[in-house]
Amino acid sequence: MKYDDIIIGGGLSGLLCAISLAEKGRKCLIISQGQSTLNFSSGSFEFINTREGEDFAQAVSALPALHPYRKIGAERLPRLRASVASLMERAGFKMVGDNDRNHWRITPFGALKQTWLSLAEMTHFQKEELPKRILVVDIRGYMDFNASFIASSLCQMGLQATTCEVYVLETERLRDNASEFRSANIARIFNGYTVDRLACAVNEQAENADLILLPAVFGLEKEEPACRMLEKLSKPAAFIPTMSPSVPGIRMQRLLKQRFISLGGMFISADTVCGGEVADGRLVSVRTLNHGDTRFEADHFVFACGSFFSNGLKATQDKVYEPVLGLDVEYEGSHGEWFDPDVFAEQPYMSFGVRTDNQLRVSLNGQTLENAYAVGQLLSGASPIKSGCTGGVSAVSAVYVAELINQQ
Ligand SMILES: Cc1cc2nc3c(=O)[nH]c(=O)nc-3n(C[C@H](O)[C@H](O)[C@H](O)COP(=O)(O)OP(=O)(O)OC[C@H]3O[C@@H](n4cnc5c(N)ncnc54)[C@H](O)[C@@H]3O)c2cc1C
Repeated sequence: MKYDDIIIGGGLSGLLCAISLAEKGRKCLIISQGQSTLNFSSGSFEFINTREGEDFAQAVSALPALHPYRKIGAERLPRLRASVASLMERAGFKMVGDNDRNHWRITPFGALKQTWLSLAEMTHFQKEELPKRILVVDIRGYMDFNASFIASSLCQMGLQATTCEVYVLETERLRDNASEFRSANIARIFNGYTVDRLACAVNEQAENADLILLPAVFGLEKEEPACRMLEKLSKPAAFIPTMSPSVPGIRMQRLLKQRFISLGGMFISADTVCGGEVADGRLVSVRTLNHGDTRFEADHFVFACGSFFSNGLKATQDKVYEPVLGLDVEYEGSHGEWFDPDVFAEQPYMSFGVRTDNQLRVSLNGQTLENAYAVGQLLSGASPIKSGCTGGVSAVSAVYVAELINQQ
């Protein structure tokens, strides 16, 4: 089976790369083995942490030379960020975010976090914009969203945050089985009239609020229930991510996949790429666990397999390795040096990843593969938690590689 491009991994980076290629009419295949980290996403993508008054360009200039942003080239990043934002819009998402600066969002623990690009329905603001009187809404019995915790964090910032608890008959029924009372199941019952009744219950308690914040449990398949909820409320309102699974994240995963398929893309799910054939410095084909001897051939291959969390990288006591082809991996030290026992410290293993050149082409036994690239969290050189470059690296590297392939 011959394709123009094969993308291994169907998370954020694989999907954005594949959509960019398919939009140019290329015949693309994604093979993806399991859930991606999008299913846990806050609904916001982080590009890089910045200091007070700093813009992205200034923060990027302080990164080490082997960071993916530096390899891509600082001068290309504004254009690539804009490409990501418009690609998301074409896929049907309403996004907010300045191309050069962070805004803030609220985490499930009530902390403020800098971020680059957010779904418009999620909390997004500049600090001085937050109104004083905030109502944080809890759904009765729902354990993965702690309104009191969030309100108390907001109060520590000098705001007047209060909480209220609401319910509808359908959410009460879900409480019969605590393990069923999860975000995705709640989202399944919030449609049409159920949304309206919950909005009524919130409105009754929101008289003294200037802003209403709710758990992001609306709109699993499409954004309509989330928009409807915000429209029905009597005050400005926005959503805060819940503990996993993430309803906006699951929606992003589904809609990006739908967008790819609507462009003619082919998506094989629940299958693992387990090897490939290399000849004359090029990757010729890959094979998968489910398809036996079938060879999937392409002109270009993109490894978008994520990091340890998604099995894009694996480790034994002796080594860190890339399991599909045994690509060259960049890591340092021995097992005991890969992590810091202080869980809040920077973790060395987080910057491990496959070695690439500046075009993000991978290498095998020291030889660059001319037609095989890596994107996303599989790349080496980023310390995503420390520098706050999680979704940004995945999104920007994906559209960068798609551009390189499209130019050939
Ligand atoms: C719990 C959690 C929450 C996060 N929340 C946020 C957030 O709110 N904002 C943010 O910016 N970033 C967040 N991140 C960071 C996140 O990793 C990136 O934003 C981005 O989504 C990663 O996308 P990716 O495509 O690089 O990798 P992944 O999402 O890891 O996707 C890799 C995909 O490749 C597949 N795969 C792996 N190996 C193979 C194989 N051999 N064959 C076929 N398929 C394979 C995997 O099954 C998976 O589907 C979060 C990360 C985690 C772990």
